[in-house]
Amino acid sequence: MSNLEVAVLGAGIVGLNTVLQIQEHFANAKITLIDDKFNNETLSYGPAGIFRPGTQFGGLPVDFVKQLVEYSYYYYKNLIPLSNSGISQISGYLFSNTAESIVKNRFLENLLPVYRHANTEELHLFNNSWKFGSYFETLLTQCSLFLPWALNRFEEYGGIKKKQRINNFRDLEGKFDVVFNCTGIGSKDLCNDRHVIPIRGQLLKVYAPWIKKFYYNDLDTFVIPLREGLVGLGTCKQYESYNMKIDKHDTASIFERCVDLVPSIANSKIISEWVGLRPYRHIFRLEMENIAKIKIIHNYGHGGYGITTAPGTAHHAVKLFRKYHLNNSKL
Ligand SMILES: Cc1cc2nc3c(=O)[nH]c(=O)nc-3n(C[C@H](O)[C@H](O)[C@H](O)COP(=O)(O)OP(=O)(O)OC[C@H]3O[C@@H](n4cnc5c(N)ncnc54)[C@H](O)[C@@H]3O)c2cc1C
Repeated sequence: MSNLEVAVLGAGIVGLNTVLQIQEHFANAKITLIDDKFNNETLSYGPAGIFRPGTQFGGLPVDFVKQLVEYSYYYYKNLIPLSNSGISQISGYLFSNTAESIVKNRFLENLLPVYRHANTEELHLFNNSWKFGSYFETLLTQCSLFLPWALNRFEEYGGIKKKQRINNFRDLEGKFDVVFNCTGIGSKDLCNDRHVIPIRGQLLKVYAPWIKKFYYNDLDTFVIPLREGLVGLGTCKQYESYNMKIDKHDTASIFERCVDLVPSIANSKIISEWVGLRPYRHIFRLEMENIAKIKIIHNYGHGGYGITTAPGTAHHAVKLFRKYHLNNSKL
């Protein structure tokens, strides 16, 4: 085990959770994290990171996804006391005028300390008149803190960071015993995987220190308090759009929808804007594959829920490798 050479491709939230899991389970492994982008250059750095998986997340059996979600929740929760990990508790509302099923979440209802129906007064919050609503206490992972924290921790424990783009897995042949592929949207080309598609999203940050709770509705609209008085406003979901430019029409639509949801936002100033492409795959890929003589463990395609589910999927990916490792004396 002491000579185990491991590569992890991708330094987003999935890759960073993966390197930390490997360090925990293979203390003597030599781990190289390979990416040509780190921290604020990655997609994962931008979003607000509310812990809330979509109820259809992953397209995999519900019990399996439940395990991944539960693992992630407790993993993040344990990091709250660590300074600069970027994890905190947050509470707020999800509203809908469409269907009650939208405000329910089978992964969260029995997991979170509080997940309840919104009462009549809450359904009329800010002079709105919602038909359905839920109130819950969950976690917020601010990746602008979590990613640097995780990267520092990885390096402190002997991990190696390498700035490189990998265009073919075969370039890694003979160099590593196993390669974890956490390249998100990059897997479209790297694995020639036509099932990976971008879902474009745009976010605004405003200064609104009076907002203390999150507010979501079913029109892809949310208002999420971050740190230092900043509040994240979102979003849009545009399938197969690769447009990385800020779109002024999206900006106007997001701001208007957020003001409808929480009218006091109208008095806030836009501080910054951001665009990201969610790495969507109808079934996210979490499996082992042999390419030539290389053992690859794929972990990509988390769509709009990668921050929420990364610890759980990373844990499962490492479990796959541990199982293989136990059955192979060489490693
Ligand atoms: C507007 C918006 C809001 C969101 N809100 C939330 C939320 O509230 N909660 C939530 O859970 N999720 C949310 N998400 C989704 C979340 O951001 C993603 O699911 C997550 O960041 C994906 O992480 P990743 O590590 O797979 O991808 P990435 O962060 O993109 O990391 C992949 C890395 O792989 C590298 N790479 C790619 N190809 C190669 C290659 N060939 N060689 C080397 N390196 C390579 C890339 O440079 C990149 O750094 C949101 C997304 C958006 C756009």
